[in-house]
Amino acid sequence: MKLDATDLRYVTSDEFRVLTAVEMGSKNHEVVPINLIAQISGLRNGGVNKLIGSLAKRNLVSKVQNSKYDGYRLTYGGYDYLAMRAMSKRDSMHSVGNQIGVGKESDIYIVADNEGREMVLKLHRLGRISFRAIKEKRDYLGKRKSASWMYLSRLSAQKEWAFMKILHEHNFPVPRPIDQARHCILMEFIDAYPLRQISNVPSPGKLYSSLMDLIVRLAHSGLIHGDFNEFNILIRRESGEPILIDFPQMVSTSHENAEWYFNRDVECIRTFFKRRFQYESALYPKFRKTVSESQTHGDDFRLDVVVAASGFGRKEMKVLEDYLEATRDEADEGSDKGEYDSNNSDEDDEDDEDFEVESDPTERRQTSNGEALEHLDLTASTNLK
Ligand code: ADP
Ligand code: MG
Repeated sequence: MKLDATDLRYVTSDEFRVLTAVEMGSKNHEVVPINLIAQISGLRNGGVNKLIGSLAKRNLVSKVQNSKYDGYRLTYGGYDYLAMRAMSKRDSMHSVGNQIGVGKESDIYIVADNEGREMVLKLHRLGRISFRAIKEKRDYLGKRKSASWMYLSRLSAQKEWAFMKILHEHNFPVPRPIDQARHCILMEFIDAYPLRQISNVPSPGKLYSSLMDLIVRLAHSGLIHGDFNEFNILIRRESGEPILIDFPQMVSTSHENAEWYFNRDVECIRTFFKRRFQYESALYPKFRKTVSESQTHGDDFRLDVVVAASGFGRKEMKVLEDYLEATRDEADEGSDKGEYDSNNSDEDDEDDEDFEVESDPTERRQTSNGEALEHLDLTASTNLK
């Protein structure tokens, strides 16, 4: 889904009131009736009609004709706008640049603050794939069902934010978190290539050990990444240092399936190193031993506990987990998921560095590439204010 920031500057404060009213109304209405929108926004009926019309023209809301009544629904574009406006009001973000990634459940943009410093905006997009599975599975959304994509996307962003903050505070190699609003996260831009795109490293053994050490260090703090693979590890262009991203699926080492998640993370790295670098080691971390080490060392911080206490509680965790599980089952049914490694041998010559980078235009899970990062065109970007 494309983020269209072009019109943001031109949305008036009355239109903003109406948009906010649609958002509020959708908490318990699948389609928000126009008189409710008028009531919440505190504007006259006639005025609201005109304003909502212009929001609909810009695809920030969509008109829905219902058997019982006609009304409006907030679109992803409208939700994007509300989040970006909140960040721009707080002065954390000023303009929007190029899209650098499109994941299964997110869109990634380069944005800038008012001094032109680049950052990364991640917009969570849950529910884009399919709701069939979760709807069948459980009715936990209750009244919120109508707003489920909004609710789930926001939960996912809040969870990622909570983990990124805690990890950053404890000096884990993750991007610096900058701001969070609704379904969006603003973070430091890492000048890097995803490991997926790298075909050669100076010392595979060294990189392998540092990644395994990272898995162990996380587990010593009570955490498992849960999607520790070549897509979510960025290799800094300058130093070759690995940076870990993408946290909405993190779990605690006391999760009932912790061992399974832990082993899968370890296995992802082993498999990737075997295939890509023909590197194999008999040394790799084992779950029980790793967890018991942290107990005997008496590590005084359990980050899983810290996160739970920071507001992202057990209930929210469970809702997201159910969603991820349900969509995973669905994806497994009829797609090529799990086929991370297509044997792509295209190589880009990067003459000034030790890392060889693959370019893979057909990449399914991310589109970030060196060129897009280098030739950033913020002159063509949109100022939000
Ligand atoms: P998803 O949940 O959709 O997988 P990720 O958080 O993994 O989203 O990000 C997708 C891609 O966007 C990454 O593979 C990377 O190329 C790029 N990306 C994400 N965060 C950053 C960042 N902070 N700096 C640079 N690139 C990033
Ligand atoms: Mg990812």
